[in-house]
Amino acid sequence: MNIKNQHLAELYAKVEKRNAGEKEFLQAVGEVFESLSPVADKRPDLIESGVFERIVEPERFIQFRVAWLDDSGKVQVNRGFRVQFNSAIGPYKGGLRFHPSVCSSVIKFLGFEQIFKNSLTGLPMGGGKGGSDFDPKGKSDNEVMRFCQSFMTELQKYIGPDTDVPAGDIGVGAREIGYLFGQYKRIRDEFSGVLTGKGLTYGGSLARTQATGYGLCYFTDNMLKKKGDTFAGKTVVISGSGNVAIYACEKATQLGAKVVAMSDSNGYVYDANGIDLAVVKQIKEVERGRIKEYAARVPGAVYTEGKGIWNIKCDIALPCATQNELNGDDAKALIANGVKYVAEGANMPSTPEAIEAFLANGVYFGPAKAANAGGVATSGLEMSQNSQRLAWTFEEVDNKLCGIMKSIFENASAAAKEYAQEDNLVAGANIAGFLKVAEAMKAQGVL
Ligand code: NDP
Repeated sequence: MNIKNQHLAELYAKVEKRNAGEKEFLQAVGEVFESLSPVADKRPDLIESGVFERIVEPERFIQFRVAWLDDSGKVQVNRGFRVQFNSAIGPYKGGLRFHPSVCSSVIKFLGFEQIFKNSLTGLPMGGGKGGSDFDPKGKSDNEVMRFCQSFMTELQKYIGPDTDVPAGDIGVGAREIGYLFGQYKRIRDEFSGVLTGKGLTYGGSLARTQATGYGLCYFTDNMLKKKGDTFAGKTVVISGSGNVAIYACEKATQLGAKVVAMSDSNGYVYDANGIDLAVVKQIKEVERGRIKEYAARVPGAVYTEGKGIWNIKCDIALPCATQNELNGDDAKALIANGVKYVAEGANMPSTPEAIEAFLANGVYFGPAKAANAGGVATSGLEMSQNSQRLAWTFEEVDNKLCGIMKSIFENASAAAKEYAQEDNLVAGANIAGFLKVAEAMKAQGVL
């Protein structure tokens, strides 16, 4: 950790003590504090009003038991979470993650990051996140429904369309959002925009499914343009094969690139001819199967068990699976193979060592907070449509998304230029996202 400002360095030591053992959360705070050092130097008023101390402490952290019956009638117990981190600029907003790795550290890191990401979108949304250590993999639809109903029975006490608006994340897709929404409606007797990522028949927005992956490519396209470059003819590697990865692959391909590899938590496929996305969608979206099956269906494709996707030569790498999936050695392998652009679709997929290596070696790096903000931005657009009782066309939403990603890129670049170096989008995104929230917190007094 290299936090230059003394106030922030001392504060980080306190955060470390108070959140002992929460490594993901501490990693996220450390990275933001590194970036914010020049801001703290220039803005003693923010130190005086305790903005830094307050922003690292969630406004509310809720943990609850989720008991449900499996198909054999046996009682199962999971842990549910919601962190309502910061509401300075709008109602709490952030996804729900269902994955066995979910714990308070993971939820807090995601909620903390969400504050800055949501601010960057320019829309009025505070930061929140939630989820459970429940694993939907291998469960029947009925089991998933019973789990979601039990989860929402507790969560509904704390959320609402003007209070806290959850969405999907890892393990929470259209099916889960449907069950969660149904249970909220039943208990509260209210049809409202309390969740985003809803189905199109009950208040969802067109282009929300595509938004994070498309937005990632729009952001990357801005990075490319800045360097006088385009997606056309580029070789791209994408990790993951979930919602973000699939639509990143679709847009990158539409923009003229060739995506040669995708993965899941078991391994990765390499297809020198370019990934056939229809096959991936069939396996992942329809059959809920494994990426391994791609190699069995597409002649010439090769499946490799385990990690190693970052050893594949590419011009552009888009990590779209999960946190800390790309470490220092992976970064070195990518750099040795000539990677020029890395943009994060997942949240915090690159370790601090990896980011350091990219920045030191002139790889143009788009951090998650900025690069994957298209998902939550489009959720914000879904909230607007719900409030107005209107539905915009796909093109309207997609055009707005494209404009938002451009302005995020420009704002992050401008903040980087003012406080660090123009190409350091890590610093730029953290600073631009922070400043808006900080001004609002200061204006609203000590809360
Ligand atoms: P999905 O559940 O749809 O897909 C996740 C993908 O990542 C799957 O291919 C999954 O493989 C893989 N994965 C998950 N955990 C691990 C792991 N521990 N190791 C290796 N691979 C793993 O989730 P999303 O696509 O929605 O989310 C992906 C990332 O993008 C997350 O970091 C999420 O927070 C972030 N994000 C998502 C947004 C959205 O709108 N959906 C918005 C902004 C960020 P497997 O099936 O084997 O588990």
